[in-house]
Amino acid sequence: MRNAQILGGPAQDILIADGTFQQIGTGLTAEADVEIDATGLVALPGLVDLHTHLREPGREDAETVLTGTQAAAKGGYTAVHAMANTFPVADTAGVVEQVWRLGRESGYCDVQPVGAVTVGLEGKKLAELGAMHDSAAGVRVFSDDGKCVDDAVIMRRALEYVKAFDGVVAQHAQEPRLTEGAQMNEGQVSGELGLGGWPPVAEESIIARDVLLAAHVGSRLHVCHVSTAGSVEIIRWAKAKGWDVTAEVTPHHLLLTDELVRSYDPVYKVNPPLRTAEDVQALRKALADGTIDAVATDHAPHPAEDKDCEWAVAAMGMVGLETALSVVQQAMVDTGLLNWEGVADRMSHRPARIGRLAGHGRPVSLGEPANLVLFDPAYRGTVNPESFATRSRNTPYRGLDLPGRVHATFLRGTATVLAGELVEPGEPA
Ligand SMILES: [Zn+2]
Repeated sequence: MRNAQILGGPAQDILIADGTFQQIGTGLTAEADVEIDATGLVALPGLVDLHTHLREPGREDAETVLTGTQAAAKGGYTAVHAMANTFPVADTAGVVEQVWRLGRESGYCDVQPVGAVTVGLEGKKLAELGAMHDSAAGVRVFSDDGKCVDDAVIMRRALEYVKAFDGVVAQHAQEPRLTEGAQMNEGQVSGELGLGGWPPVAEESIIARDVLLAAHVGSRLHVCHVSTAGSVEIIRWAKAKGWDVTAEVTPHHLLLTDELVRSYDPVYKVNPPLRTAEDVQALRKALADGTIDAVATDHAPHPAEDKDCEWAVAAMGMVGLETALSVVQQAMVDTGLLNWEGVADRMSHRPARIGRLAGHGRPVSLGEPANLVLFDPAYRGTVNPESFATRSRNTPYRGLDLPGRVHATFLRGTATVLAGELVEPGEPA
């Protein structure tokens, strides 16, 4: 490809062959099978998502590994971590191997299964963490996401257990008693609407407990979808202590606020809930200064019947793979908070490092695996969910103008997306 701006730097040519970056420089004379004019496009390492719900096995009406990895490729991702809250739950070597194998068969994006922390996500008994790690799937990230590991003794044991193989526990921080009947962020808007409030302290108290537990046992903690300014302060404190704590934020928590709930449109119903403008500003700042390590989509597809209903009974979650980079451009790049090098760090290098994902999150340099996204930051368009590859349509950005578009994605040198459209993996690039 010609004239790609690697991490937003000066235009260079990139030659990919045998799955790796073979030549990088200006005015390359080598002939490629396929020439791409990348003028004006930013080249980033293939994105890595720490938090994706692929729904298979069990809810193939919402998403499959195939449609989810197609959505990932369209969003510029070359690896995603598939959350464990499937049916059956990914709490055994058998289920994580099934998900891992489906990912390999898809060919659009690597799928790294996340193992459940507890059997059936019930929070009572540790799942077979060692067996999942030793399986073909090589699980290193464990999470009961969707539910909080609220029992402190179970959480302590999980943190102790994963130490043996450099694993990490990714916590969905939600104190269950404090969020009984919770429907949205607890604050002025929930008071006016009369909806059950979800207090920030329900998230912050679990994070505070868990960073202390992780420090006590000397293990690795990752905090899922941080959503409040107070959570940021706790994580900043834990990092200052030198504890091994990392954190992620979703694109929607970087852009949207609880004011949107006034519409009563369940597309804005999500866990953790949309918070206030002050929280959004704190999250952006924390992502910019590195207190929050990564952007993770929490891509949560739901079929229409679970979303086109009354607020109180609607499912929680939003799709996000195909809009993540555009939202990050709007919230972080166009605001001057992060440059493209920073985006590569927060959406590829650091998430790959947290998941200990070999072969991903590598620099765009000679000899490295050619996992690459070409992004057009000048593109302007309106979000049209009908064009999505995901099987579900529950996006909060329908009809919104978002900047930028993924032009092409390469997984180990093979194009999965060209000119913004999916291509069959295996076609030579
Ligand atoms: Zn969660």
